[in-house]
Amino acid sequence: MRRLMNLACVSVLLLVANYAIAQNKALVNTSASPYAKLSSLDMGNVTWTKGFWADRFQICRDTMIPNLWKVYTDPKVSHAYKNFEIAAGLDTGLHSGPPFHDGDFYKLFEAVASMYAVTHDPKLDALMDKTIAVIAKAQRADGYIHTPTIIAQKNDPKNAKAFADRLNFETYNLGHLMTAGCVHYRATGKKTLLNVAIKATDYLYNFYKKASPELARNAICPSHYMGVVEMYRTTRDPKYLELSKNLIDIRGLMKDGTDDNQDRVPFRQQTKVMGHAVRANYLFAGVADVYAETGDTTLMHTLNLMWDDVVNRKMYVTGGTGALYDGVSPDGTSYNPVDVQKVHQAYGRDYQLPNFTSHNETCANIGNVLWNWRMLQTTGNAKYADVMELALYNSVLSGISLNGKNFLYTNPMSYSDDLPFTQRWSKDRVPYISLSNCCPPNVVRTIAEVADYAYSVSHKGLYFNLYGGNVLNTVLKDGSKLKLDQQTEYPWDGKVNITLQQVPAKAYSLFLRIPGWCNGASLSVNGQPIDATLTTGEYAEINRKWKAGDRIELNLPMPVKLMESNPLVEETRNQVAVKRGPVVYCLESVGMPKGQKVFNVAIPVNNDLKPELIEIENSPIMSLTGKADLRNEGSWTNQLYREVGTKTSKVNIRMVPYYAWGNRGHVDMETWIPLDR
Ligand SMILES: [Zn+2]
Repeated sequence: MRRLMNLACVSVLLLVANYAIAQNKALVNTSASPYAKLSSLDMGNVTWTKGFWADRFQICRDTMIPNLWKVYTDPKVSHAYKNFEIAAGLDTGLHSGPPFHDGDFYKLFEAVASMYAVTHDPKLDALMDKTIAVIAKAQRADGYIHTPTIIAQKNDPKNAKAFADRLNFETYNLGHLMTAGCVHYRATGKKTLLNVAIKATDYLYNFYKKASPELARNAICPSHYMGVVEMYRTTRDPKYLELSKNLIDIRGLMKDGTDDNQDRVPFRQQTKVMGHAVRANYLFAGVADVYAETGDTTLMHTLNLMWDDVVNRKMYVTGGTGALYDGVSPDGTSYNPVDVQKVHQAYGRDYQLPNFTSHNETCANIGNVLWNWRMLQTTGNAKYADVMELALYNSVLSGISLNGKNFLYTNPMSYSDDLPFTQRWSKDRVPYISLSNCCPPNVVRTIAEVADYAYSVSHKGLYFNLYGGNVLNTVLKDGSKLKLDQQTEYPWDGKVNITLQQVPAKAYSLFLRIPGWCNGASLSVNGQPIDATLTTGEYAEINRKWKAGDRIELNLPMPVKLMESNPLVEETRNQVAVKRGPVVYCLESVGMPKGQKVFNVAIPVNNDLKPELIEIENSPIMSLTGKADLRNEGSWTNQLYREVGTKTSKVNIRMVPYYAWGNRGHVDMETWIPLDR
């Protein structure tokens, strides 16, 4: 009897241990975060089967990751990996490439680890092992790792000092090392990279213990806020939580803080979003992580102010953020020109959302996803999933070509060859962005990880955040198994069929997201309509005792819609953006009869735009075809103003999703199109 009890105890303990391990395998692990309502499934629990994300994932596995790995390990193109080899003493030479190159390599590494979590491809495992050995060798004994400084020290020990230059991106690089270390550990169970990250985080902890505010200002582009909290979640070392809190508290203490870096004003005193959009969004994501662990309401208060400011006044219709290439801040609020600071790649003023000159860095749009994901996990509020979905389908995917090989740094809302000046960064996607290749590995890791955002769990049930054909197979906290099959052509069609295959014995809730863009959703179980009111922009809960074979059908009508902007957005007055479901459309010159200009088109209120499935670069794309009005009034050359003409004709147009623009050669393109009332 006693032996039996002991055995029972042992198995309970094993079970508990298994949970702990299982819960530690989420991409962002909020399973033990006291102030997060939701947590994630383990990486690898969700496998895309058929449809939109299955297609993107396959291209990520077969092209995006192998192609980008080749780029990053070919010193003739990118010196990222070579820098690690030199820092490790395996080669000689100088550092080459931007100071944030290490971090970008870690992001690519994270993509490989996330891919491995799904495919368990032994070749990826071996590749990661080989790479980690080099990274570990490059690390200094004190834990510091940043190849520009380490290589400089090797060449001239007197000259190179850690954290000497604010623009050296050390903490950005360290942050991505931390995230990659956690993801690799969760995907493989190996601690090799995690141990490098632990040494690095300890180094950072000790550095900040001693650092003056002036030295602490080195936090450019704070990916390390997310990284440090994830290290805490992985190791439960309280030092890391302390560090993450201190990182917020020291902001705004230095004399020369800037609006561009969001550190002129202490975080809790900020009321408006300003400055570099990647840095801002990464900061907000990291602060949301700290909130999930601490419940510090002063942080959530500022996050709410920032979120309202972005979503209600500063975000593009595509979920893109960071309207300006360059600007000033604060603008118009001070008579003292000394207060006016330069900002770049930055949020603009309220409602300042230009089209031809929109910056919208791919990394900023990904930062918007990272931030909203953490807000969703913390609160369970579907409004955050709406923003995530919007950015993913539009301004994140636009950063990479359909074939997975070429990239955009900026994501303009319009493009014209007639614009008589050249903006920085190519508006045609390129294989390698030589000065700023931060976006390519960021978009590739994001696509590799979309399955990790598809669902969340709470103690009550399963949340459907993003729809797409997949199989979910997981073990819940109470030990019961949950397996289901989701079939859908979303985002091209709003019908989602879910078949439950293994279910908990007890009553369990399914929370199906009714997107904010959707009116008239309907829901049925085994063919019986569900009576519950389905509120747009919220999760619809169905709680019952389920059985294997139960079928849920969700219908999300997605008619073609014309969207207008707040009239204070002067650049888009009397124009419309065409949207269907979560997907924003654009018009390219290649979607018009030859010789016609997209900028002469106007869309009638009562239009006949209809969905039609086409293929571009072997990818199925839902296009919209129909008739529009065409003003055919000759050239604008050397003309700024003229009297409005009356000559119009009808023209056939084919619009494509914004994310797919520029995949059929060099084109003019427009997202906001004049409206014919
Ligand atoms: Zn970038």
